[in-house]
Amino acid sequence: MNFHYDYLIVGAGLFGATFAYYARLAGKRCLVIDKRPHAGGNVYCENLEGINVHKYGAHIFHTSDKKVWDFVNSIVEFNRYTNSPIANYKGKLYNLPFNMNTFYQIWGVTTPAEAIAKIETQKAEAIARMKADGVNKPRNLEEQALILIGRDIYEILIKGYTEKQWGRRCTDLPAFIINRLPVRLVFDNNYFNALYQGIPMGGYTKMVENLLDGIEVRLNTDYLENKKELDALAKKVVYTGPIDAYFDYELGHLEYRSVRFETETLDKPNFQGNAAVNYTDKETPWTRIIEHKWFEFGKDENGEDLPKTIISREYSSEWKPGEEPYYPVNNAKNGALYVRYKEMAEKENKVIFGGRLGEYKYYDMDQVILAVLDLCEKEFNQIK
Ligand code: FAD
Ligand code: UDP
Repeated sequence: MNFHYDYLIVGAGLFGATFAYYARLAGKRCLVIDKRPHAGGNVYCENLEGINVHKYGAHIFHTSDKKVWDFVNSIVEFNRYTNSPIANYKGKLYNLPFNMNTFYQIWGVTTPAEAIAKIETQKAEAIARMKADGVNKPRNLEEQALILIGRDIYEILIKGYTEKQWGRRCTDLPAFIINRLPVRLVFDNNYFNALYQGIPMGGYTKMVENLLDGIEVRLNTDYLENKKELDALAKKVVYTGPIDAYFDYELGHLEYRSVRFETETLDKPNFQGNAAVNYTDKETPWTRIIEHKWFEFGKDENGEDLPKTIISREYSSEWKPGEEPYYPVNNAKNGALYVRYKEMAEKENKVIFGGRLGEYKYYDMDQVILAVLDLCEKEFNQIK
């Protein structure tokens, strides 16, 4: 059969756009489609009032992989943004992640030795309680948090936020969710341990535009609604939509957590003085407020101060079929269902499933790029 394209790439998110970029370098003809009216997937930024608004949630690029960092910097220039969110608990402010600044704010301790003493005392209490119950390993997120950092910080900075974010009690959540939060005995408010981090200058949309430069893109085009015609166009398909949707939910729905944003333009230059403020009490209905301009230091593309500001209140919600899927829920039930879909996917020999939805994985952006590099190595046998 004579195909017009080598690859039909379903989804113009980071996975699809990065794959298209490498395919083009390898001399392949590609068509990228997306059902949304814009490219970029969830990293898409909309420019309003000169501010790059992270439309599907705040995105901070961070990685310890030099190969990934060099690659993204070859596509677009990155700024020096370092994520250092503030927590607001009942009107009082605390630094995140848990570090000497936080310990000073909570306990008034001024040295690492005093902080360790506080944490160790509270940890010992938690371990003693678990022993009394006859267990020596944390059974849930609450126990994990208590033996990691103690009761005070758990009550002020973890419990309310986590229960709002996941819509479940901490005692019903798996321990591993909390493991990625750093605990530091230095005065360092950098949220990530990664070696490199930043935000693309001009926003993620610029990065995706550069990846897709010279590649044919069709927006507002749903693959599953036009599958037959679209399949006839290309030798192979790279599918980055939801894996269960591809099989028309034959085995049932995979579950997600969803997020809702309420975005507001304010006629003032500064609302909260930081890009991210987490509301860690249970009374505040939103989980956090993002003030988008601070990802780029409050300046427009010419380096001028911006007179207005745009904020997004973020609410976490239970996902229902038909809504925008955000976070895969990686519990045993969904894991088992995904394995069955994956077995079906392996039989589709013309189709490669990739990305956050295609692989049902809680991928950060750098992991998406690494996954594409791996795939391209197999497909084109030339990327180092
Ligand atoms: P997506 O961006 O979801 O792209 C998939 C695309 O496929 C979409 O554009 C969709 O419209 C399209 N599509 C789906 N079905 C069809 C169809 N049938 N036909 C046509 N098109 C279709 N990562 C970080 O590294 N740092 C962060 O700070 C960070 N923050 C995040 C915050 C939030 C709220 C969320 C949800 C994620 C965050 N991530 C972060 C993760 C990051 O968003 C993902 O790693 C990345 O966007 C995944 O890219 P993707 O291409 O796999 O998926
Ligand atoms: N977390 C918390 N308080 C905070 C921030 C995070 O308790 O102020 C917990 C929460 O359970 C969350 C986990 O730490 O799910 C991981 O947080 P991270 O910011 O890494 O997750 P993301 O929101 O990026 O998925």
